[in-house]
Amino acid sequence: MFILNELPFGASALEPYISEKTIQFHYGKHHQAYLDNLNKLVAGTELEKLSLPEVISSSANNPERLGIFNNAAQVYNHDFFWQSLRTNAEQGIISENLSSLINNSFGSFDNFREEFKNLALSQFGSGWVWLVQDGEKLVFLKTANADTAFLHQVKPLLVIDVWEHAYYLDYQNRRADFVLAIIDNLLNWQFASNNLNN
Ligand code: MN
Repeated sequence: MFILNELPFGASALEPYISEKTIQFHYGKHHQAYLDNLNKLVAGTELEKLSLPEVISSSANNPERLGIFNNAAQVYNHDFFWQSLRTNAEQGIISENLSSLINNSFGSFDNFREEFKNLALSQFGSGWVWLVQDGEKLVFLKTANADTAFLHQVKPLLVIDVWEHAYYLDYQNRRADFVLAIIDNLLNWQFASNNLNN
């Protein structure tokens, strides 16, 4: 049985940028439902014994395991998303190493912010927008639906969920406002740095 990882923060800890109500639905209903579906789909199969990344890798691009892939990757992506969000000042400090990588890769933090937002807006329909390390550079990567960055030979550092369920209660159709609120206030740079050095 796969288990639902606990949120790394309280449900109201991201207010006013993400409401307690959104977290209750997003974590308590959506994330939980992906996990419950996954457990039902792998019950009694050899996949039950694998780690979550192994289930994802072994079911990717396999039409017979599409349901398993979608639910497993959504469980993984949501875990990654919660960890990408910060609730204290310390997590908001960008390390020197990461800061210079951002400047080298995007020109400036302002460019980084603008590109991140534009990419989130250009994701048609549901998906995820990732900051990833690709060789010596940082780049953005969009993935559709449940697709996940580690399948693309890059190292994920941070992710923003741009499925409508992530922001509709708080921002309705204003995806840009949601994404900028996260970039400006909620990105967990400590988590990104840890991923970079792993
Ligand atoms: Mn979501």
